[in-house]
Amino acid sequence: MEAEFLRERRVLEEVRRSLAEQVRLPGGVRMTARSCKDAEAEYDPETGQIVVCYEFVAETRELLGGEVRSDLDERVEGALRETLYHEGAHALIDKWELPFVGREEDVADQFAAHQLIRQGARGQRHLAAVADTYRLYAADDDPSDIDFSDEHSPDAARAANYRCWLYGARPKIHERLVDGTILTRDRSEGCEEEWEALRRGWEHLLKPHRARSGTS
Ligand SMILES: [Zn+2]
Repeated sequence: MEAEFLRERRVLEEVRRSLAEQVRLPGGVRMTARSCKDAEAEYDPETGQIVVCYEFVAETRELLGGEVRSDLDERVEGALRETLYHEGAHALIDKWELPFVGREEDVADQFAAHQLIRQGARGQRHLAAVADTYRLYAADDDPSDIDFSDEHSPDAARAANYRCWLYGARPKIHERLVDGTILTRDRSEGCEEEWEALRRGWEHLLKPHRARSGTS
């Protein structure tokens, strides 16, 4: 079922194609989907390949499916596309030895946001779905179990970050994301600047590697 979902919606192909259109990378960013022991998605620097586990697709569907929405498939696809862009960032950082400051996991989240936001309304809906997956993961987290040494930011922080960047990119359209709980009014005041710094940073990093036809 998960294999069919990914194939029919051409999830891996579309992300691979969009990256190939933007940047020069011999052989492109290689991606594959398969069944694994754990529900995960990761970039393996040894093989230079991104692996998405069917179990991760199923977990994402279960998580988002807990909220009654008519557009579940679209939201699952959105969350998976974000994952592929996030892992794609690890691939680009690894292959090009991109210089950046801050934690690589946050930088990879920023790349995923940058990619989806520039795609317009659909990409932005996908990013909102991703923010929801982190909101839902965070609701399940036991506060005493949060591992602050984890290389990823805590789920609630990732939900807030995605909302902030999305709101910052299009404040008039995404006003409702400032709900006072996940994204506070206080944080939201700086989101336009956060988004602008993120956009400028990633465009600078990609510039030497742009495909000739690439636009942004
Ligand atoms: Zn990562």
